[in-house]
Amino acid sequence: MGLEEKLPSGVLLTTVEGLFGYMRSASFWPATFGLACCAIEMMTYGAPRYDAARWGQEVFRASPRQADLMIVAGRVSQKMAPVLRQIYDQMPNPKWVMAMGVCASTGGMFNNYAIVQGVDHIVPVDMYLPGCPPRPDMLVDAMFKLREKVAHRPIGPNEIAAHEAAEQAQLHA
Ligand code: SF4
Repeated sequence: MGLEEKLPSGVLLTTVEGLFGYMRSASFWPATFGLACCAIEMMTYGAPRYDAARWGQEVFRASPRQADLMIVAGRVSQKMAPVLRQIYDQMPNPKWVMAMGVCASTGGMFNNYAIVQGVDHIVPVDMYLPGCPPRPDMLVDAMFKLREKVAHRPIGPNEIAAHEAAEQAQLHA
């Protein structure tokens, strides 16, 4: 009798997924994408007072090829939108996006022709962080919530598609 026949169904796959999820969630490499005042709070988050290095989240990358998380910190102008999308496309999969602050999430008080009314018009967003600006400790909290999400992401293509469809349905319910 082979090993797979001895194991209860799904045990091996669940273990591999759990390992992948743990490693991904414990080693974010955020892309540097500060656009306005929220970026100051994001920089503070990486500085010694908040010390994101404790959780493996401090390696901000200037190259999108080396990043798996985009923290959109600040309002997104219409002119910046195609640049943001290009940088997102250059990031390797799997990747995640956080909209930091009310401007990145919805346009905020800049309800005008020059500002994108929510970065989710440009890229898919995994986490919205309210506030103007959100404090660095709110960013810490959001990062831990994102870690939970990443840790439970499946690894098979069909499972990922089903998982993302369920997430979208939950988001728009
Ligand atoms: Fe600036 Fe507030 Fe907008 Fe952040 S949410 S970019 S702090 S105006």
